[in-house]
Amino acid sequence: MSNKFYITTTLPYVNSDPHIGFALEIIQADAIARWQRLIGKEVLFNTGTDEHGLKIYRKSQELGQDPKEYCDFYAAKFDRLKETLNLTYTHFIRTTDEHHKAAAQELWRRCLAAGDIYKKNYQVKYCVGCELEKTDSELVDGKCPIHPNMEIELIDEENYFFRFSRFHEPLL
Ligand SMILES: [Zn+2]
Repeated sequence: MSNKFYITTTLPYVNSDPHIGFALEIIQADAIARWQRLIGKEVLFNTGTDEHGLKIYRKSQELGQDPKEYCDFYAAKFDRLKETLNLTYTHFIRTTDEHHKAAAQELWRRCLAAGDIYKKNYQVKYCVGCELEKTDSELVDGKCPIHPNMEIELIDEENYFFRFSRFHEPLL
Protein backbone atom coordinates (compact mmCIF):
# COMPACT_ATOMS: atom_id res chain seq x y z
CA MET A 1 0.00 0.00 0.00
CA SER A 2 1.15 3.55 -0.73
CA ASN A 3 2.67 5.42 2.14
CA LYS A 4 1.22 8.70 0.90
CA PHE A 5 -2.15 10.18 1.78
CA TYR A 6 -3.80 13.21 0.19
CA ILE A 7 -6.76 15.12 1.58
CA THR A 8 -8.29 18.47 0.67
CA THR A 9 -11.18 20.55 1.92
CA THR A 10 -13.36 22.50 -0.48
CA LEU A 11 -11.90 25.94 -1.14
CA PRO A 12 -14.40 28.39 0.35
CA TYR A 13 -15.35 31.60 -1.46
CA VAL A 14 -13.99 34.67 0.26
CA ASN A 15 -17.22 36.68 0.08
CA SER A 16 -17.49 36.86 3.87
CA ASP A 17 -15.82 35.80 7.13
CA PRO A 18 -15.11 32.10 7.76
CA HIS A 19 -18.22 30.53 9.28
CA ILE A 20 -18.97 27.58 11.55
CA GLY A 21 -19.88 25.28 8.64
CA PHE A 22 -16.40 25.57 7.18
CA ALA A 23 -14.85 25.16 10.66
CA LEU A 24 -16.65 21.80 10.91
CA GLU A 25 -15.36 20.69 7.50
CA ILE A 26 -11.75 21.66 8.12
CA ILE A 27 -11.67 20.18 11.65
CA GLN A 28 -12.99 16.88 10.25
CA ALA A 29 -10.30 16.92 7.55
CA ASP A 30 -7.70 17.73 10.21
CA ALA A 31 -8.78 14.74 12.34
CA ILE A 32 -8.41 12.44 9.30
CA ALA A 33 -4.99 13.91 8.45
CA ARG A 34 -3.79 13.44 12.03
CA TRP A 35 -4.98 9.82 12.06
CA GLN A 36 -3.20 9.09 8.79
CA ARG A 37 0.04 10.55 10.21
CA LEU A 38 -0.38 8.45 13.36
CA ILE A 39 -0.51 5.26 11.30
CA GLY A 40 2.68 6.31 9.52
CA LYS A 41 1.47 7.94 6.30
CA GLU A 42 3.13 10.91 4.65
CA VAL A 43 0.22 13.38 4.49
CA LEU A 44 -0.40 16.19 2.04
CA PHE A 45 -3.27 18.16 3.54
CA ASN A 46 -4.61 20.96 1.34
CA THR A 47 -6.98 23.84 1.96
CA GLY A 48 -7.20 27.40 0.66
CA THR A 49 -9.55 29.98 -0.81
CA ASP A 50 -11.54 30.30 -4.03
CA GLU A 51 -11.09 33.89 -5.18
CA HIS A 52 -12.93 33.80 -8.51
CA GLY A 53 -16.64 34.49 -8.78
CA LEU A 54 -19.23 37.14 -9.50
CA LYS A 55 -20.26 37.36 -5.84
CA ILE A 56 -16.70 38.22 -4.82
CA TYR A 57 -16.35 40.77 -7.62
CA ARG A 58 -19.63 42.45 -6.68
CA LYS A 59 -18.77 42.45 -2.98
CA SER A 60 -15.41 44.13 -3.61
CA GLN A 61 -17.09 46.73 -5.84
CA GLU A 62 -19.69 47.37 -3.16
CA LEU A 63 -16.87 48.13 -0.70
CA GLY A 64 -15.00 50.23 -3.28
CA GLN A 65 -12.00 47.88 -3.19
CA ASP A 66 -9.80 46.32 -5.81
CA PRO A 67 -10.85 42.60 -6.08
CA LYS A 68 -7.31 41.36 -5.39
CA GLU A 69 -6.90 43.60 -2.31
CA TYR A 70 -10.28 42.43 -1.08
CA CYS A 71 -9.22 38.78 -1.53
CA ASP A 72 -5.85 39.36 0.18
CA PHE A 73 -7.68 40.62 3.25
CA TYR A 74 -10.07 37.65 3.43
CA ALA A 75 -7.57 34.94 2.46
CA ALA A 76 -5.42 36.02 5.44
CA LYS A 77 -8.47 35.65 7.70
CA PHE A 78 -9.00 32.08 6.47
CA ASP A 79 -5.31 31.24 6.86
CA ARG A 80 -5.43 32.44 10.49
CA LEU A 81 -7.81 29.54 11.22
CA LYS A 82 -4.66 27.41 11.32
CA GLU A 83 -3.68 29.00 14.61
CA THR A 84 -7.19 29.54 15.99
CA LEU A 85 -8.30 25.94 15.39
CA ASN A 86 -4.85 24.33 15.80
CA LEU A 87 -4.93 22.86 12.29
CA THR A 88 -2.16 20.87 10.62
CA TYR A 89 -2.69 21.52 6.90
CA THR A 90 0.48 21.56 4.82
CA HIS A 91 -0.72 23.59 1.81
CA PHE A 92 -2.87 26.72 1.53
CA ILE A 93 -3.85 27.32 -2.10
CA ARG A 94 -5.32 30.62 -3.28
CA THR A 95 -6.89 30.37 -6.72
CA THR A 96 -5.11 33.66 -7.56
CA ASP A 97 -1.67 32.06 -6.91
CA GLU A 98 0.48 32.07 -10.05
CA HIS A 99 1.30 28.35 -9.76
CA HIS A 100 -2.40 27.53 -9.34
CA LYS A 101 -3.30 29.57 -12.44
CA ALA A 102 -0.58 27.84 -14.48
CA ALA A 103 -1.79 24.40 -13.35
CA ALA A 104 -5.46 25.23 -14.05
CA GLN A 105 -4.57 26.45 -17.56
CA GLU A 106 -2.52 23.34 -18.25
CA LEU A 107 -5.42 21.13 -17.11
CA TRP A 108 -7.75 23.07 -19.45
CA ARG A 109 -5.31 22.67 -22.38
CA ARG A 110 -4.99 18.91 -21.83
CA CYS A 111 -8.78 18.44 -21.49
CA LEU A 112 -9.37 20.50 -24.64
CA ALA A 113 -6.75 18.52 -26.60
CA ALA A 114 -8.41 15.26 -25.47
CA GLY A 115 -11.83 16.51 -26.64
CA ASP A 116 -13.23 16.69 -23.11
CA ILE A 117 -14.30 20.34 -23.31
CA TYR A 118 -17.13 21.53 -25.54
CA LYS A 119 -19.31 24.61 -25.97
CA LYS A 120 -23.06 24.67 -25.93
CA ASN A 121 -25.99 26.91 -25.24
CA TYR A 122 -27.40 26.65 -21.78
CA GLN A 123 -30.59 27.87 -20.17
CA VAL A 124 -31.35 27.93 -16.51
CA LYS A 125 -33.88 29.40 -14.11
CA TYR A 126 -32.15 31.39 -11.42
CA CYS A 127 -33.16 32.93 -8.08
CA VAL A 128 -30.94 35.93 -7.27
CA GLY A 129 -32.13 35.77 -3.64
CA CYS A 130 -30.68 32.27 -3.23
CA GLU A 131 -27.93 32.80 -5.84
CA LEU A 132 -28.88 29.32 -7.07
CA GLU A 133 -30.28 27.56 -10.11
CA LYS A 134 -33.83 26.34 -9.64
CA THR A 135 -35.54 23.39 -11.26
CA ASP A 136 -39.25 23.49 -12.14
CA SER A 137 -40.00 21.04 -9.33
CA GLU A 138 -38.50 23.50 -6.80
CA LEU A 139 -40.73 26.39 -7.89
CA VAL A 140 -44.18 27.13 -6.51
CA ASP A 141 -46.43 28.94 -9.03
CA GLY A 142 -43.28 29.82 -10.99
CA LYS A 143 -41.62 31.49 -7.97
CA CYS A 144 -38.93 30.53 -5.47
CA PRO A 145 -40.78 29.47 -2.27
CA ILE A 146 -38.11 31.24 -0.14
CA HIS A 147 -38.29 34.44 -2.22
CA PRO A 148 -41.90 34.66 -3.47
CA ASN A 149 -41.56 38.45 -3.97
CA MET A 150 -38.69 38.10 -6.47
CA GLU A 151 -38.97 37.18 -10.13
CA ILE A 152 -37.12 34.08 -11.30
CA GLU A 153 -34.49 35.12 -13.86
CA LEU A 154 -34.00 33.13 -17.03
CA ILE A 155 -30.30 32.90 -17.83
CA ASP A 156 -29.49 32.05 -21.42
CA GLU A 157 -25.84 31.91 -22.42
CA GLU A 158 -23.21 29.98 -24.34
CA ASN A 159 -20.83 28.20 -22.00
CA TYR A 160 -18.02 25.64 -21.80
CA PHE A 161 -18.78 22.16 -20.51
CA PHE A 162 -16.67 19.24 -19.40
CA ARG A 163 -17.50 15.95 -21.11
CA PHE A 164 -18.17 14.15 -17.87
CA SER A 165 -20.24 11.41 -19.58
CA ARG A 166 -17.02 9.94 -21.01
CA PHE A 167 -15.87 9.11 -17.47
CA HIS A 168 -19.17 7.69 -16.26
CA GLU A 169 -18.28 4.01 -16.68
CA PRO A 170 -14.63 4.15 -15.50
CA LEU A 171 -15.71 6.05 -12.37
CA LEU A 172 -18.40 3.52 -11.54
ZN1 LIG B 1 -34.76 32.03 -3.67
